[in-house]
Amino acid sequence: MSELAELVPYDEALSRYEPVIGLETHVELGTATKMFCGCPTTFGLEPNSAVCPVCLGLPGSLPVANRAAIEYTIRIGLALNCSIATWCRFARKNYFYPDMPKDFQISQYDEPLCTDGWLDVAVDGQIFRVGIERVHLEEDTGKSLHMGGATGRIHGADYSLVDYNRAGIPLVEVVTKPVAGTGSHAPVVARAYVTELRDLLRALQVSDVRMEEGSLRCDVNTSLAPRGASEWGTRTETKNVNSLRSVERAVRFEIERQAAVLDAGQKVVQETRHFHEDHGNTTPGRSKEEAQDYRYFPEPDLVPVAPDAQWVEQIRASLPELPAARLARLQSQWGLSDLEMSAISNAGALMLVESTVAAGAAPSDARKWWLGELARHANEAGIELSELAVTPAQVARVSELVKAGALNDKLARVVLEAILAGEGEPDAIVEARGLAVVSDDSALVQTVDAVIAANPDVVAKIRAGKTAAVGALLGDVMKATRGRADATRARELILQRLA
Ligand SMILES: [Zn+2]
Repeated sequence: MSELAELVPYDEALSRYEPVIGLETHVELGTATKMFCGCPTTFGLEPNSAVCPVCLGLPGSLPVANRAAIEYTIRIGLALNCSIATWCRFARKNYFYPDMPKDFQISQYDEPLCTDGWLDVAVDGQIFRVGIERVHLEEDTGKSLHMGGATGRIHGADYSLVDYNRAGIPLVEVVTKPVAGTGSHAPVVARAYVTELRDLLRALQVSDVRMEEGSLRCDVNTSLAPRGASEWGTRTETKNVNSLRSVERAVRFEIERQAAVLDAGQKVVQETRHFHEDHGNTTPGRSKEEAQDYRYFPEPDLVPVAPDAQWVEQIRASLPELPAARLARLQSQWGLSDLEMSAISNAGALMLVESTVAAGAAPSDARKWWLGELARHANEAGIELSELAVTPAQVARVSELVKAGALNDKLARVVLEAILAGEGEPDAIVEARGLAVVSDDSALVQTVDAVIAANPDVVAKIRAGKTAAVGALLGDVMKATRGRADATRARELILQRLA
């Protein structure tokens, strides 16, 4: 079946169809050594320098499970409100890939370490509970590099290289239950879930959760069914979703695409699809393997994992403050509304706002700058807020200058833009560009008098009682001072001079 080029506009698709989403998140654990051997897990080492007979799958080598990785996985499971298995086994997942030197991956199949939990996410002040099906532990694969082609893909490449440094790095997979009932919020709920999960993992200190380095990777399942239908639709699994923004875009695109397929009377194909960052679309990959294709069986080279109850309780007792509790604590300290807090959290700006407040800004001001002007810049550049070239301390300083009356909002936006452009610290920019608000009366009075003298008609109107006309004079004062006048003071002066 060929791909349809048409999409159904988002709102129209949602008026007739109901989406169900699901997320599978792979998290590289930040343990010092690999899952089944003693090789280091450091990122960016010389290719094939962190390998040994075990992670290369050489004959006669035997794996030994990494206790720290098991502890990290239990930590994640407990934080996600899961039950922890008292006894479980690793399983062999058989498949041939050049980056999988053993021809099988040690994973978990029907006996995952953690099951049946949940994570709440807030979107627009509404709470959506995302069910967690399972959290299991496995080893990562190596990495293929296709050389000589234009695209970096295998098609058109002259030859391929493989780097086994990543083979055997402990990987946790967090799988949600299908999430229904989100309606038009589905893409935002998906993004909010991954954001919340990332913050949780960071708080647990089990991973550096860098999506751009691949230590947090996301597959997004989406299906669509006619509203009121008794069954869910066929789902697709979108891979290569490498940023929070892409999670939202991928779900949105699949909703628009699947609506077009269903509208045309065709069936959605159950398949793996690839997300393309540049076009924001997905294209079909291989059709999805079934579990039986992997011929899973219990890993014979490893003993079962049986964490005792006392150890699990010790881990539970050592959990740090989790993001939901932290959010509630900061909300009561900051005095912001539910809606304001969920907006900060969903924008991935909690740490930024917190640091800005710590650097001296009022919480409402910190929120205003990060979610307003700076979010607009990040959006235009297609990057995350944290990637902007501005620090919380700089934002706090700009906010302080506004509070002190040295800048107005308009000038503050100019200063922020200059910081982003690399012009330096706020005070230096104000100085170099002569941006400070003119509020000292002697300078302002001269301008006000000049504007009054130049506009006899407007002055006559004001004197006749049409005080709204003051706006016209004020506009001229602002123009004459290139936006640097203190508008409130200028208005007072105009009225004083004409009284
Ligand atoms: Zn090794």
